[in-house]
Amino acid sequence: MQAKREKIVILTGAGISAESGLGTFRDEGGLWAQHAIEDVATPEGFARNPRLVHDFYNARRIQAAEAKANKAHQALAQLQEHFPGEVVIVTQNVDSLHEKGGARNVIHMHGVLEGALCATCDHRWPAPDEMEPETTCPHSSAPSARPDIVWFGEIPYAMEEIEAHLSEASLFVAIGTSAQVYPAAGFVEAARSFGAETLEINLEPSDLANRFHSHRFGPATETVPEWVAALLT
Ligand code: NAD
Repeated sequence: MQAKREKIVILTGAGISAESGLGTFRDEGGLWAQHAIEDVATPEGFARNPRLVHDFYNARRIQAAEAKANKAHQALAQLQEHFPGEVVIVTQNVDSLHEKGGARNVIHMHGVLEGALCATCDHRWPAPDEMEPETTCPHSSAPSARPDIVWFGEIPYAMEEIEAHLSEASLFVAIGTSAQVYPAAGFVEAARSFGAETLEINLEPSDLANRFHSHRFGPATETVPEWVAALLT
């Protein structure tokens, strides 16, 4: 009988992009710290002040476009290429640094800065560098373009696909996430319930650290390449 192929499911958060110069959620003085979440990351905030929300994501889009993948993103791409089983990357990040680092088929559960979404007809298209309340949808012509970002109170993308991967995972790894945003924070419990081993890689223990079987603490550009090298040798 053929042995079952191993499957590693990796969840990444803002911490993996921190050393590429993109601030995390809780960085002091960072873009996020200057705005209330309710104002820039909820549908209600967008309805109240679409210009503020567009300005916020325009700034983040420009910053992310200039950022380069770091050694942690590159190591995960190497793992995808050389691991004899399957490696699925699910990210909460809205930057495209996994792809810039060479990763394939990345699941962006919170959307992408590079995308625009029509609030009227759900059409998606590549976002222009700068969006504004007057930006029209190329399909419906309605002036209702919004960033293709999943805001608080909205349902993340690809949840069924992610749950199917978690149910087949032999190893679940969370990298650079504070484990405070659900449903992603619930993935470790789901993976465990399906029998997966679990590993947390983070700068410091997250609030859910005790739910992981093992840990590697330190900057992602060091810990992730070390873990990948250990796995591939
Ligand atoms: P978070 O900011 O809540 O937590 C970041 C985590 O990364 C923390 O636990 C921190 O200890 C850790 N960390 C910081 N620097 C690190 C490093 N160099 N190496 C390893 N770990 C490091 O981020 P989150 O858990 O991803 O949740 C925040 C939400 O904000 C997400 O939904 C995400 O969509 C969004 N966000 C995205 C980006 C991005 O796309 N780059 C940036 C900020 C926020």
